[in-house]
Amino acid sequence: VGQRKYAVFGNPIKQSRSPFIHAEFAKQTGISLQYRAIRVELDDFDRSVTDFFKAGGSGLNVTVPFKEQAYQLASRHSARAVRAKACNTLKPDGDGVYGDNTDGIGLIRDMVANHGWNLRGARVLLLGAGGAARGVMEPLLRESPECLVVANRTLAKAETLAQEFADLGKVWARGLTDLSAELAFDVIINATSAGLKGETPDLPDSLLGDRCCCYDMVYGAEPTAFMRWAAENAAWAVSDGLGMLVEQAAESFYIWHQERPDTASVINHLRGSLAAA
Ligand code: NDP
Repeated sequence: VGQRKYAVFGNPIKQSRSPFIHAEFAKQTGISLQYRAIRVELDDFDRSVTDFFKAGGSGLNVTVPFKEQAYQLASRHSARAVRAKACNTLKPDGDGVYGDNTDGIGLIRDMVANHGWNLRGARVLLLGAGGAARGVMEPLLRESPECLVVANRTLAKAETLAQEFADLGKVWARGLTDLSAELAFDVIINATSAGLKGETPDLPDSLLGDRCCCYDMVYGAEPTAFMRWAAENAAWAVSDGLGMLVEQAAESFYIWHQERPDTASVINHLRGSLAAA
């Protein structure tokens, strides 16, 4: 059997840790595969996907800014991808392409299983209403929080999300600069890309409830501005998004190979290499 070919498509893509993660999973499970990070031009996504699968590719991950385009391109979808209207995982499906979304389950596994945080009955604040926020709405609401407030710089996008997911629980939309009147939260998740530029939304510290857990989807060698804000204001627990990255990769790996790799060892390894960088 030849080496099966996988890749992640994105733009930018240089910083991607996915090739390392999938190589580690492959080692663990004894599966022979090649996984590359490929930068795709903004107007060339559909053609690149078609060419990759025509050339015998077995699976693709899709990252910023192509997740919604990936959803449009797929001919068949998982239920969770239909909910998110965004795909981060693709595989060939007869003459077409099957699309799934593993970001949401990745976040929940990291918060609930790895960190032991409790979402049931919690007041949850989600900052951001882009592709990443969209992908985590359904899995978050399935955990039965007391309520979910979506706060975004562009209020209209938060309102759209709140309406789309209103059937799954109490969801409210707010402007990002309009949070000072809110009651305190038990869990705050940063799904904005502000941290990529070292910025953090200007948040009142009254948002942090007792034993508040703060999660930033962004990760890097240093704590993000959001994580520093949380720590400085005595959040009970603070996490970056490295675990989510590894957990969403593990779920994609399962979709392609029907095997569940061990994620803890890979998270630890990555954590070490980030610290050393
Ligand atoms: P999008 O570009 O789709 O959305 C970006 C979001 O950030 C929007 O809500 C946008 O608000 C907001 N935003 C951008 N800049 C600022 C700012 N300066 N101040 C306040 N809000 C801002 O990106 P994604 O949703 O796909 O990704 C969001 C982040 O999550 C990225 O940093 C990405 O790396 C990370 N991520 C991590 C994953 C992981 O596995 N750890 C998985 C997926 C994503 P507006 O609508 O007003 O423009």
